[in-house]
Amino acid sequence: MTVKKKIVRSVGVVAAAAGLVALSNPAYAAGDVYKGTGWRILSGRGIESLSPDPYVIKIVKPGAGSKLTAAQARTAEAQLRAQLKKSAAQLTSVTGTKFTLASGYQKEVTACSTAERHVIAVGMKYRPFTPGNKPGYSQAHPCSASGNQSAWGGWIWMDSEYWNGSWKIDPYRLRNLISHELGHSIGLDHANTDGSDANRTADPYECATNSSKDLPVMCSPNGGHAMGKGGSVTRGKKYAGQYTKWDIAGLKALKANFSR
Ligand SMILES: [Zn+2]
Repeated sequence: MTVKKKIVRSVGVVAAAAGLVALSNPAYAAGDVYKGTGWRILSGRGIESLSPDPYVIKIVKPGAGSKLTAAQARTAEAQLRAQLKKSAAQLTSVTGTKFTLASGYQKEVTACSTAERHVIAVGMKYRPFTPGNKPGYSQAHPCSASGNQSAWGGWIWMDSEYWNGSWKIDPYRLRNLISHELGHSIGLDHANTDGSDANRTADPYECATNSSKDLPVMCSPNGGHAMGKGGSVTRGKKYAGQYTKWDIAGLKALKANFSR
């Protein structure tokens, strides 16, 4: 089965500007829903749904490309595994599709044409973002099944700079970022929309919010509970890495869009 390569970008720090995904308007399947308040599906890039068949998340063993010391790599891997395991549990709970984090390692994935079905390979590399190798940027590469445009799997490169001290990010924000990239890998787009400023641009952090200053995890350049301006650090830490109600609505829509 052929699959198409998709690239979605994300950024790992609050201060950095992020380009937003330009959306096209492909012919949608009748009855399918691709966006709602606080969420959007990567339909403009070929993913419309989430399969009921299980997905497996696998870690790529940090290599020379990570530029991490052995000790830093161990810390990075432990943090990645801890969050991915939690994210997998939440994804399973809200979508009904089983997600698991595998023990052991996956070899590096470089193209959708050779990516294993329903495997999401997560690794860390020094400045993996293409183009430009921008500091602090991570990147998800979701693939889609050409038959029904369901999430095929793919790979994620986290910027190893989060763990070598050269790019400062609070651990609880990093947890949101890991969930953010995982969300891309299964078909969630950035949730930004033009809001109250009505400047016709979906600006960074311009996303649905509430009185707790929550933002969708899929908000660009990053989001999560209490991640809006003035949000409580206590709340941010309490719900770190957890998809918000908006992300969950998007995930449920992805699943509902599935057709054989
Ligand atoms: Zn992103």
